[in-house]
Amino acid sequence: MKRRDGYFGSFGGAYVPEGLKVALGEVEESFYKHIEDQDFLAELAYYQKQYIGRENPLYFAERLSKEIDGAKIYLKREDLNHTGAHKINNAIGQVLLAKRMNKRRIIAETGAGQHGVATATVCALFDIECTIYMGEIDTERQALNVFRMEMLGAKVVPVKGGTRTLKDAVDAALQDYICNASDTFYLLGSAVGPHPYPTMVREFQSIIGQEARRQILEAEGRLPDYLVACVGGGSNAIGLFHPFINDEKVKIIGVEPAGKGLETGEHAASISMGSIGVIHGFKCYTLQDKYGEPLPVHSIAAGLDYPGVGPEHSYYNEIGRGEYVSITDKEALKAFFQLSKTEGIIPALESAHAIAYAIKLAKELTKQEIIIVNLSGRGDKDVEQVKKLMG
Ligand SMILES: *Cc1c(COP(=O)(O)O)cnc(C)c1O
Repeated sequence: MKRRDGYFGSFGGAYVPEGLKVALGEVEESFYKHIEDQDFLAELAYYQKQYIGRENPLYFAERLSKEIDGAKIYLKREDLNHTGAHKINNAIGQVLLAKRMNKRRIIAETGAGQHGVATATVCALFDIECTIYMGEIDTERQALNVFRMEMLGAKVVPVKGGTRTLKDAVDAALQDYICNASDTFYLLGSAVGPHPYPTMVREFQSIIGQEARRQILEAEGRLPDYLVACVGGGSNAIGLFHPFINDEKVKIIGVEPAGKGLETGEHAASISMGSIGVIHGFKCYTLQDKYGEPLPVHSIAAGLDYPGVGPEHSYYNEIGRGEYVSITDKEALKAFFQLSKTEGIIPALESAHAIAYAIKLAKELTKQEIIIVNLSGRGDKDVEQVKKLMG
């Protein structure tokens, strides 16, 4: 794999304190070495198949397509992975790397708890000590996920400083990393953060697009017209998109959360509504105040609730390779029910954003056209929240 400096156009990079540069350099070194190493790739392939349950299907949503009466919609079934979403693809990749680097301890931060659970899961699997930082308010809001992580053997540290949410959890995790980098690996959950994380996470998630490409060629004998995926930090989307980047006829659409409406300010649409800035060690489109501090964000889907976006998406937006649109809470909720009723598949609220946009798009297209939607996760985790919203 060609080694790069971590920039996608002017986005990305590593805006970090001196104390982190050496540690990040070591991760970078190890990543580029192992991603070409046959033993490492064979071990990764083993766990993808035997533990995650890959490959998962590319499912033709025939009833949904019929009901819309437009383009054919295929769903990439990341919801069928062990632990119910795409996050485990990345967690497995990074834990295998941590093992090769002889790190005895893994740390991570989590907001809603989904990345914390994926991290605790792979640490249990490999018997590695695991500490998860989580804002104190989030530990209260997501008590069940805290319990899940503890069941898996992780230590969950409630962060009491600042706003007591994700941003403060990130700060606490970085502080820990600066102090303990010699024996600790920082397992980052999305295609964000300083180099080499956006590239590394994209590589571990690209299995999604690699499989989808093979599967659509087998099913239809040609490539799709559109790829659609929801964008929080951007890892499930870049995982689907990347293997198609050089296929210029395949249009790429990332769906951001418009929350209660772009005009209300209560959203997390970093590309649609943000400006260029530095957040958590990298340059991207971000929702920031006039001092460059991240703004509070909102989405019905906790996993999309992030005031920045991966640098590679920022770049594809800038050069026009990708189109970035948004879907409101309400539209996502409608798609959540529509997919459940037509296909018997309850999507994660995050994924429902991608479904909602694909439904709109399919209506405008002919029956010959093909859309692949990344169904990034299953909705079991959201059923209680949706019930409350409806009640
Ligand atoms: C975390 C999460 C997302 C958002 O993260 P990305 O890095 O943008 O993929 C999307 N869908 C599900 C199911 C998630 O758990």
